[in-house]
Amino acid sequence: MSNAPCNVVILGSTGSIGKQALEVADLHPDRFKVVGLAARDEVDELVLQAEKYRPAMVAVGKPDSYQPLKSRLRGDCQVTAGIEGMCQLAGGDDVDTVLVAVSGSIGILPTLAAIRRSRRIALANKETLVAAGDMVMSLAQEHQAPIIPVDSEHSAIFQCLAGEAAHLKNLWLTASGGPFRDFTQQELTGVTVDMALQHPNWKMGPKITVDSATLMNKGLEVIEAHHLFDVPYERIKVVIHKESVIHSMVELVDGAFLGHLGVADMRIPIQYALSYPDRLPSPAAGLDFNQIGAIHFQRPDLQRFPLLGVAYEAGRVGGTLPAVMNAANETAVHKFLAGQIGFLDIARLVEKVLEAHSVVIRPQLDDIFAVDGWARAYCCELAEKGL
Ligand code: MG
Repeated sequence: MSNAPCNVVILGSTGSIGKQALEVADLHPDRFKVVGLAARDEVDELVLQAEKYRPAMVAVGKPDSYQPLKSRLRGDCQVTAGIEGMCQLAGGDDVDTVLVAVSGSIGILPTLAAIRRSRRIALANKETLVAAGDMVMSLAQEHQAPIIPVDSEHSAIFQCLAGEAAHLKNLWLTASGGPFRDFTQQELTGVTVDMALQHPNWKMGPKITVDSATLMNKGLEVIEAHHLFDVPYERIKVVIHKESVIHSMVELVDGAFLGHLGVADMRIPIQYALSYPDRLPSPAAGLDFNQIGAIHFQRPDLQRFPLLGVAYEAGRVGGTLPAVMNAANETAVHKFLAGQIGFLDIARLVEKVLEAHSVVIRPQLDDIFAVDGWARAYCCELAEKGL
């Protein structure tokens, strides 16, 4: 263990994961130095963060926000913009770890930029692996860039698999089931945006909270797990576990199950991805098993929550299909959040876009971005026509 602090870049510093990562950095100033920050267009918050952490570089995703940000940042902090700016930040000199916590497929190129410089990737962005998993994992291997998952389920599996990968039988991803776990099909038709944003266990951003409610989040996690741990889809199981006490499990060939337990506090997996292989103290609460009493398990219902099954299928087919699914879902969720479509329309639209796509089996990055753009446009077109 070296005494020099680890230089960390946070992509998505104004989002839920990014802010909690800054809390982790605050708790261990001797261990982590924030050297770069990036956000989409939250200029006020970026200015406050830059004044506090004094990073060498700040990037803003929306080019329109460059001038407002630049004019308000004092000192010698370099300001960049757009996807190029985020790539410059992620692939910069004097960077040890890049936390990729932006939401959406915008995370792909900066992640690749960091991988090409052999940086450690603390990966909180699902779309990178869902849309471009084969490419990202093989490039990471080529450049020996460690990818440490931040998502609680994958962090759990990563930890349980330490030294046990050769004995693995199945992965078990746990799912809270979201706020509508026990809703009937009829009740699901009346779901509002406010209802979907009330996650029972985890504090997260709006896109992922809606994905938890449709179970698409678990579907994306199944595809991520396939890439991260190189496990075929038939050996990745999902179980609803409403208390979120077990964050996921590995089943070993001798019948042993190893699970990762803890409170539902994202600061734990964020900190672990930054400190790995060390462990540092955390202010997260402990678990009191004497108080928990009971925990429950239940099979996911693919009739009411079809997107989980859709994701398994898209993952099995592979090629460009997961990228299309992800782009259609992202578009549909944003339309739902904007009040333009109903909750059940999300799955309907995603399925229609997938049906219309001709899969490219071994896509290049250009193919992935092309189908991503097509899927978004087609999803909007279908939504506008009310199809
Ligand atoms: Mg998760």
